Amino acid sequence: MNGNPTTPPPVNEPVLTYAPGTPERAELKKELESQSSTVVDIPLVIGGEEIRTGNTINVVMPHAHSHVLATVHQAGADEVRQAVVAAAAAHREWSTTRWEDRAGIFLRAADLLAGPWRQKMNAATMLGQSKTALQAEIDSACEIIDFFRFAAHFAEQIYAMQPLSERGVWNRAEYRPLEGFIYAVTPFNFTAIGANLSGTPAMMGNTVVWKPGRTSMLSNYYVLKLLEEAGLPAGVINFVAGDARLVTSELLTHTELAGIHFTGSTAVFNSFWETIGGNIGGYRSYPRIVGETGGKNFIVAHPSAELDAVKTAIIRGAFEYQGQKCSAASRAYVPVSLWKDLEGPLVEETESLTMGDPREFTNFLNAVIDQKAFDKITSYIDRARKSDDAEVIAGGAYDDSEGWFIRPTIIQAKRPDYVSMCDEIFGPVISIFVYDDANWSRTLRLVDSTSPYALTGAVFAKDSRAIREALDTLRNSAGNFYINDKPTGAVVGHQPFGGGRASGTNDKAGSVMNLLRWVSARSIKETFVPSLDYRYPFMDSE
Ligand code: NAD
Repeated sequence: MNGNPTTPPPVNEPVLTYAPGTPERAELKKELESQSSTVVDIPLVIGGEEIRTGNTINVVMPHAHSHVLATVHQAGADEVRQAVVAAAAAHREWSTTRWEDRAGIFLRAADLLAGPWRQKMNAATMLGQSKTALQAEIDSACEIIDFFRFAAHFAEQIYAMQPLSERGVWNRAEYRPLEGFIYAVTPFNFTAIGANLSGTPAMMGNTVVWKPGRTSMLSNYYVLKLLEEAGLPAGVINFVAGDARLVTSELLTHTELAGIHFTGSTAVFNSFWETIGGNIGGYRSYPRIVGETGGKNFIVAHPSAELDAVKTAIIRGAFEYQGQKCSAASRAYVPVSLWKDLEGPLVEETESLTMGDPREFTNFLNAVIDQKAFDKITSYIDRARKSDDAEVIAGGAYDDSEGWFIRPTIIQAKRPDYVSMCDEIFGPVISIFVYDDANWSRTLRLVDSTSPYALTGAVFAKDSRAIREALDTLRNSAGNFYINDKPTGAVVGHQPFGGGRASGTNDKAGSVMNLLRWVSARSIKETFVPSLDYRYPFMDSE
């Protein structure tokens, strides 16, 4: 086709409410019932082939951990190597496929997900990752749809970026896919991250080996099936479940590694970078290293802040999805004058939050993801109970007999450097430090220096000078900064997401900045009438 096609203008997918009586609620409930009575057998998918190794692990419901939802076949070293071969084979055609044909596949996937696939994906996310209907809707439906629609639009913008040409010359920019394969390594907490980290490099013409998180396999497998139904050719994204260390050790030092698209904890990302650094002479090209990692996200309230706004931001920001959002608020700084009226209602509201199985829609919270997370989170609660520097003022109860349930917990820290003010806990726990009203500026410096992370943060104030000061002092403390709003809930195309310092490379998921990492530009200069003589005019004799 000759022409410069433009993509449909991207529009964010509306979030459905799931209120009683709505058709989406009825459909979702039906799907939840059906998935709750099925055990899915999840193969590896390499070069379009389903491979069953027989070495399987179970995917369970975190809120009912004896209930198996799926068995997942695990790759050995041979299958991992096979995935690289499949990615290389698919690369030949995919990397030269017209961009609009690639984008069309993802746009089709977005519409399938907005329609017939929506509740399948939401139910898998609710059951496998223990999310409420609303938390699943904003993740596994809306955010994936937005990622795909906006990425197609950003791809179009990238290809349209062309250099100047002077008379007699035609300069062009070609945005080539990277040579080799992309290794996408994704976390459990957002189905959309699995879709974005594997899908975005593929949209730009790359081929991918995708290792999903161990506890999000069901929804992640459906992402792959959705893309297959939308027409993604075999081998473009290869789905390789398996022991994280084994899969990674095969791939990270491979000559053809063209890039890493990672989201997860800082320690794992650091280990990837070290391995790549140690092997730097062993690659065909310098691998692109893109990683979004941990956080210790803050809320800082000024004495002029509105009490109810701070209370709501703490509850929603810290406890939605059990505090397992990378952006979740996990430390707050409140002035004494506000705290005396905030403490009572905050504790009372926290104690009233409903927790349980996501199939019961009245619950606000569900279970944390697995035993390892449960043990880690509860160890911080136990420690606070025993410490003279902290007090558990709300929640603190936990029970893993049926599901990994932890009550939303507030720790009041008596020192700003108490351990739970500094470490990423990744659970329904927020630590609060109460400061003297006179220490506003000093508190801002404390917020900046307490943690190595810089992902999200929020300031609450009515005083505009205070907001300005917070923006300045906390300039590098958060990649996503909120004024009078909770620090979670970034929307694709509105608040491109990512942080600096130990929170990642800040390549902003859901923006043109991320897509640019997956292309390597070639500058082409064509001269219409070439020079025939090497001599320049200045060389002529006078
Ligand atoms: P994780 O680091 O345990 O796992 C992430 C991925 O790395 C998974 O696929 C896992 O299997 C793999 N992995 C784990 N250990 C590995 C190892 N030793 N070698 C190779 N691969 C390994 O993270 P998680 O528990 O799935 O997710 C939670 C973490 O992710 C938190 O730290 C959170 O802040 C972070 N996160 C960050 C963002 C962001 O945008 N900054 C978004 C979501 C999650």
